[in-house]
Amino acid sequence: ARSDITYFGAGPALLPTDVLEKAAQALLDFNGTGLGIAEHSHRSELATSIINEAKVDLATYLDIPAADYEVLFMQGGGTGEFSASVYNLVGAWVARQHAAVLKDLGGSEAADEAAVVAALRAKVETDLKLDYIVTGGWSLKAYQEAVRLLGPEYVNLAADARLENGGKFGKIPDQASWKLSKDAALVYYCDNETVDGVEFPEFPSALAPKADGTGPIVVADMSSNILSRRIPVANHSLLFFGAQKNLGSTGVTVAVLKKTFLPPTITQPSPALMRRLGLPIPPIVLQYEIVAKNNSLYNTLSIFDVYVAGQVLKKLLSTFPNKVDGQQAVAEKKAEIIYSALEAHPDVYKIVPDKTARSRMNICFRVIKNGTTDESEKAFLEEATGLGLTGLKGHRSVGGIRASNYNSIPLEGAEKLAKLIEAFAKA
Ligand code: PMP
Repeated sequence: ARSDITYFGAGPALLPTDVLEKAAQALLDFNGTGLGIAEHSHRSELATSIINEAKVDLATYLDIPAADYEVLFMQGGGTGEFSASVYNLVGAWVARQHAAVLKDLGGSEAADEAAVVAALRAKVETDLKLDYIVTGGWSLKAYQEAVRLLGPEYVNLAADARLENGGKFGKIPDQASWKLSKDAALVYYCDNETVDGVEFPEFPSALAPKADGTGPIVVADMSSNILSRRIPVANHSLLFFGAQKNLGSTGVTVAVLKKTFLPPTITQPSPALMRRLGLPIPPIVLQYEIVAKNNSLYNTLSIFDVYVAGQVLKKLLSTFPNKVDGQQAVAEKKAEIIYSALEAHPDVYKIVPDKTARSRMNICFRVIKNGTTDESEKAFLEEATGLGLTGLKGHRSVGGIRASNYNSIPLEGAEKLAKLIEAFAKA
C-alpha cells in the first residue's frame, strides 16, 4: 500500500497524498461543476484563475519580485528549456546588437539594410558566445543541445567538472578557472545535478552582478532542487524547472524570466533577419514572448498539472509560515541524517561527490562490502525494498545507489533510510 512505501525515485517523485486525493476528486468533478478539471477548457475562467493563483503562490513562496519577473507555464520539460533558453537568449542578444548597429549607422531611417545585416553578421561571427558551466549529466546535455542548435563555434565550454576529477563528475571546478566570455548571450549552470548528486552550495559568486547592477545573463536549471532552498532570483535572467520532482506532476515546466527580456524592452528579431544571420528561431511554443503575451495559454496547457502544482504550493505555504526557508531547514536536516549515517561507515559506503558539492536532493553513494560492489548494492537494494524503501537504484549511466530526498520525503522517511544504512553496515 501507498502508506507502506517511501519512494526515493529521482523523478517523477512522490506527491503528497492529500494533494493527490484532492486532485483525484478534481479529475472527476471540479468544484461541483460536473466536469473534471482535465475536461474544462483551458480558455475558461476557472483555468485562468488556477494559472494566476499558482503564479502568485510560487512568487510568494520563493520571493520572486513579481514586478520584475514573468512566470511562464510551458511544456517540453527541462529538455525543452535547454533549447528554449538558447533560441530566446540568442534572439535577445541579436536584438541588442541590432539596436546598437542601427544607432551606429544613424538610426533606423537612415541605415541601409544591407549595411545593417553586414555589420550584424560581423558581430555574430566575432562576438556571439554562449557559456556553459558543465558540472554533471544535465548541464552536459544542455551544452550539447546548444552545440546542436547553433554549431560549436558559438558555444563555449566555460568549465568542465570532469577535467580535474579523474574524468568523472563530482566536484564544482574552482570558479577562478572558469573561462567566461565577454558579454555572453547567456551563462548556463545546473544548480543541482540529479544524476551525479552534485549541487552548488550557493549561487556562484563568479556570476553575481556587479555593484552597478550589470552582470552576466545567468540561466539556471533548477529542475531538481527548486522549492527546497532560497534562491537569489535577482541574480538570474532565467531560471526553469520541470514540475516532476519538487513541484507537481510531469507535464508542466516553469520558466521564470526577467521582464527586461520581453517587449517592450526586447522584442525577438524577425525570422527573416535571423535567417540572414544564419541563426535559428524558436518553434513558436518555445518563444517566451509568445507564451508571456498569452498568459501561458498560446496553446492548450494541461490545467490539471498546473492545478496539482498549485496545490503543492498551497500546502507548502500553509506548512511553512516562513515559506521556502522553512522547507530549506527540513531539507538540510534530512540530508544531514542520511549523509551522517553514510559517513559513519566509510568502510562500507563511498559517497560519490566531493563533500563541497554534495546534493541535498540526490544522495549518490556506492556500497562496498566484502570487497564487492555489485553484489553489495544488490543486497542493499533488496533489504531496502523489504522495508518499503524503494526507487533507490542509481541512474543507469552511473550505477550505485541514489536516494532522492525531495520535499515530499518526510523526515521519518530519511530516518528509516539512515537506520537501514546503519544496520546494513553492521550486519
Ligand atoms: N534537468 C535536470 C536537472 C533534470 O533532473 C532533468 C530530468 N531528470 C532534466 C533537466 C530533464 O527534464 P525533462 O525530463 O523534464 O525534460
